[in-house]
Amino acid sequence: MRRNFKYIFILFLLIIAVLASRETFSLGDGNLKFYVLDIGQGDAIFVQTPSGNQILIDGGQDRRILEELGKVMPFYDRSIDLVILTHPHLDHAGGLLEVLENYKVWEFVDGGDIYNLAEYGELKKLVEEKKISYRTVQRGMQISLDKGVSLLVLTPEKLVKSDNPHNNNVVVRLSYGKVDFLLMGDGEKGEELKLVQAGDNLESEVLKVGHHGSKTSSNPLFLEKVNPEYALISAGVKNRYGHPAQSTLDNLLAAGAKILRTDVDSTIEFKTDGNNLTLTEEK
Ligand SMILES: [Zn+2]
Repeated sequence: MRRNFKYIFILFLLIIAVLASRETFSLGDGNLKFYVLDIGQGDAIFVQTPSGNQILIDGGQDRRILEELGKVMPFYDRSIDLVILTHPHLDHAGGLLEVLENYKVWEFVDGGDIYNLAEYGELKKLVEEKKISYRTVQRGMQISLDKGVSLLVLTPEKLVKSDNPHNNNVVVRLSYGKVDFLLMGDGEKGEELKLVQAGDNLESEVLKVGHHGSKTSSNPLFLEKVNPEYALISAGVKNRYGHPAQSTLDNLLAAGAKILRTDVDSTIEFKTDGNNLTLTEEK
């Protein structure tokens, strides 16, 4: 019995050692990791900062988000530091219900739109029940994610009365050192031109294209200001909306961007040390 106990104890120590080394491996290499997850039609972006803070921006429409998170997070990691909802449409909000049910989420933020979507109501209820810290964000807010890593909120400036939540969509610019990611949610042309008119510094190495590459987004004037090296499109395979539009693909190519699409390339993954940006090619 005693002998057995000793072996079990050694096994236990070994397991701890393996887990600890995995932790240092996956979290401590000084890189920020950025993923556009392949959740079908919708949006879900996962970010892990150099010291391991995790941020999820939108969650796609359903349970598929859990499978995708399982691929980019260690199995024993059951918490996410910050969840951001860009706007309450099902293809962005639906999967967050699963995330809030299955992960310990520390903070939840959105633009505060009161659009009437049943799943959004359920989300707000879950946030309350689980006592998740909640706040709405507005243009000009800066959220520090890690040493040298921050998110600047570019929209909404103030909420407008509208039947279309795209008009109150949250746009953020994620920066680590010299590398910037402009994340447009479902921002459309009107929102893009407002940012241009405001004179914001939009220049970004990576652009998560607004509204799944539809023709309502990616105006040439806006793209000129962003000047992206990479343009990322999140869209479902053979989705019924016909995303992305050929005219948008043409605009992105004309702007000199390399286009990556979840419907073609599956999950898109980058890493950066704040100076260099690396696209992790298909596993
Ligand atoms: Zn959408």
